[in-house]
Amino acid sequence: MNKNENLTVVHTRSALRAEIEASRSTGDGKVALVMTMGALHEGHLDLVRKAHELAQTVVVSIFVNPLQFAPGEDFEAYPRTLEADLEKIESVGGAIVFAPSAEDVFPAGAPMVTLSAGPLGQILEGKTRPTHFAGVLQIVSKVMNLVQPDYALFGQKDAQQLAIIKQMVRDLDMQLEVVPVPIRREPDGLAMSSRNQYLNPAQREQALALSRALEAGRAAAAETKLPSAVIKAAREYLEGQPGVRLDYVALVDPLSFAPFNDGKSGTAVLVLAAWVGATRLIDNALVVVGK
Ligand code: AMP
Repeated sequence: MNKNENLTVVHTRSALRAEIEASRSTGDGKVALVMTMGALHEGHLDLVRKAHELAQTVVVSIFVNPLQFAPGEDFEAYPRTLEADLEKIESVGGAIVFAPSAEDVFPAGAPMVTLSAGPLGQILEGKTRPTHFAGVLQIVSKVMNLVQPDYALFGQKDAQQLAIIKQMVRDLDMQLEVVPVPIRREPDGLAMSSRNQYLNPAQREQALALSRALEAGRAAAAETKLPSAVIKAAREYLEGQPGVRLDYVALVDPLSFAPFNDGKSGTAVLVLAAWVGATRLIDNALVVVGK
């Protein structure tokens, strides 16, 4: 265990439980949890900052969860930068950092009892990555059970993940509040992502197509208010960009992820995914459509 004034690093579930017990008995007794796969950027740090506003005890997990990667995806290549991550967490107020090994988290190998995200887990992200959300829910529920937080913070960057986790918390009566945090972007609009590190300079430029397609969708919403026009504008923008291969564009309800068709009005989320070279990126934006 590595202990500085504001930073405590634990590598096992038992050490985590002990640190949380000790910390919970001081201050307001509240605990806020931020779950990450590391390679931290300002988007992650926004979650940590928000966690400090909500609770005296902040827990940040750093774990590249093998269950949410399918064979052939980037599990091995995913950046692992623990020392730099710890410095960043310390710079925004510290935390109890849980950085376990896969052996500590899954001592008996892959778990036998599993979770399903249901129909929400099969569409959009789940269509391209059919095992992804089950793997996410497995680790999210496990770490929530270990930490027993009052608040768990998730980025709106992963809009479908956020909707599924909110649904799990409701369906399983988990006693915590899910707190969404807005998307942090680079100055030119690219949504921050640990996977942006995979992009070479030309691809980094091409990746701007995603946020610009969202802008095209928002402009169409302002002009026509029609869901179909929003989708068309974003799709046509993306399809016209060199080096970018579209996976999906959809306009959906932010909670149920039901399609937002013409005739429906209110706030929807425009979600999209595309490959830039071999790197798959996602982005989204809230859009108001209808009357
Ligand atoms: P990750 O480590 O990429 O799995 O993300 C960990 C958490 O950080 C998730 O709740 C993400 O939604 C959130 N996150 C990642 N990128 C961003 C971003 N650009 N803005 C806000 N939150 C983010």
